[in-house]
Amino acid sequence: MPVEATILSEARTPALDVDQVRRQFPILSRKVNGKPLIYFDNAATTQKPRVVIDAIRNYYQSENANIHRGVHTLSQEATSAYELARQKVARFINAPDPRQIIFTRGTTEGINLVASTYGRKFLRGGDEIILSAMEHHSNIVPWQLLAEEIGAKIRVIPMNDRGELLLDEFARLLNDRTKIVSIVHLSNSLGTVNPVKEIIAKAHQRGAVVLVDGAQWVAHAPTDVRKLDADFYAFSGHKLYGPTGIGVLYGKAELLEAMPPYQGGGDMISSVTFEKTTYNVLPHKFEAGTPHIAGGIGLGAAIDFVSSIGLQNIARHERELLAHGTRLLQEIPGVRIIGTARDKGGVISFVVENPSLATLDVGMRLDADGIAVRTGHHCCQPVMDRLKISATARASFAMYNTKQEIESLAASLRKILEIDANKTAQRRVNAADAKAARKPESDSVQFPSAAAASPQTAADELIETFDLLGDWEQRHQYLIDEGDKLPPMLREMKTEANRVRGCMSMVHLVTRKRPGTADVMEFLADSDAAIVRGLIWTLQRVYSGQTAPAILAFDIEGFLKRLGLNQQLSMGRRNGLSSMIQRIRAEAANLIGQNRS
Ligand code: PMP
Repeated sequence: MPVEATILSEARTPALDVDQVRRQFPILSRKVNGKPLIYFDNAATTQKPRVVIDAIRNYYQSENANIHRGVHTLSQEATSAYELARQKVARFINAPDPRQIIFTRGTTEGINLVASTYGRKFLRGGDEIILSAMEHHSNIVPWQLLAEEIGAKIRVIPMNDRGELLLDEFARLLNDRTKIVSIVHLSNSLGTVNPVKEIIAKAHQRGAVVLVDGAQWVAHAPTDVRKLDADFYAFSGHKLYGPTGIGVLYGKAELLEAMPPYQGGGDMISSVTFEKTTYNVLPHKFEAGTPHIAGGIGLGAAIDFVSSIGLQNIARHERELLAHGTRLLQEIPGVRIIGTARDKGGVISFVVENPSLATLDVGMRLDADGIAVRTGHHCCQPVMDRLKISATARASFAMYNTKQEIESLAASLRKILEIDANKTAQRRVNAADAKAARKPESDSVQFPSAAAASPQTAADELIETFDLLGDWEQRHQYLIDEGDKLPPMLREMKTEANRVRGCMSMVHLVTRKRPGTADVMEFLADSDAAIVRGLIWTLQRVYSGQTAPAILAFDIEGFLKRLGLNQQLSMGRRNGLSSMIQRIRAEAANLIGQNRS
């Protein structure tokens, strides 16, 4: 059914019954940290309805076989189910023919496929590729790899402070060397909906082909690749209520036909001899090896599910959530919404304008209330640089979210900010008291001295304290409280050279040899995230004031494991902690080297 017909039939469907929708998603009835789950991380991945879970289970339980090659019944059934899913996808985005639907692992693979095959075959040194300032890394890096290899140039459409692309600038960037324009339909970090139809038309006037990154779009409004006149359109199943590991690349038939294969292997060939191989027809030419059969079938079920609810209904519901959420969050003093484009999807990115409360802390404290939001750069570091922020917290909506959930988010945020304001006020009083009590000469920076006779003794003491504290929530609070008392680091010390890279938050670290000693090391560090300050405090306890050889000999990994930090910290935070440890250990090794020479 063409999309226009889908829209017409949806217009007649009743408004979305959220309670009924929610009952289709088993995960929504679970609790997180003792609270009902409120899931606002839909731009990262959506939850899965029972029909999708059942379709996958049913495939493995009753139909499992490899496809395309078997004559036996199971193989035929599995092949039909997989190919039926391809037809569903084609109808879903109004592609002329299922041959033009290439199953991939996701948006990332779709973009890489086009960059590697179309890009390598049709672009030359000096050609230009236009991207936008709000692209996801997966729509930047594949083009950079291509550009480096062939000597092409990447040009970037700038955006304004609201997060809207400057289309006049785009028109100026277009020229006869422009071969590819690759643009996001709905921005995952800002929520901006880009005028892709207009962008495509302009690019076509100059003979460029256009790839649209539809990762965030397809689950939220109808997609019509023919109306858009998109040359390529890529998206991921897992953001469309389907499984992970399956995605779609749509392409115009003449382009796909002209492109060389992406990977070699089984299924993508027509005949193979050692002298010459001929390739299979579309779409199989691009699908080497056994594909994600269950994923394809699950995606087909997800598309049926979404279509039965109706994308117009979903879009209307999410627009209401966006309006409600924007209004509520705007009213909270200290919360600033990032991304205020006139045309937006259901994404609200925000920062908290409070120096003592990093975005990371906001995310962790919301999680304590059962609310899942994403914090970080959302794989869009250039967006963060452009807006001069290091991270945002992001609430992104799906068909099952409710206005009440948004009200809970707003209430939780207000509570977090209030607690922090009280703490800040208390800190100011303490700092003023401390300053009044201090002797003038002690105004200089204080590097913490040894907490115990050796790193191991300090570690044993910490482990004992942690054991007494019991559960992770108490340990977490303890770390936050101790982090609050870190000795201050002067602003002059927070230089680029002292910045520790690899952390999700801003971290600065300075080490020094304690004056008057041969190899005793001390360090100061600071971060904008409370939990990271807690980790810094932990490292100071075991390392600061110890000799360089003792620091190197200490089994830090074993210690962190015994504290339980390895299990509790997210990958990002573990990486940040590792970067700090590496920096301290490298400085210790340096000091030993200097003493030897
Ligand atoms: N583009 C955008 C706009 C995205 O939001 C994402 C996922 N966050 C991707 C591309 C990459 O999708 P995937 O990881 O599923 O390949």
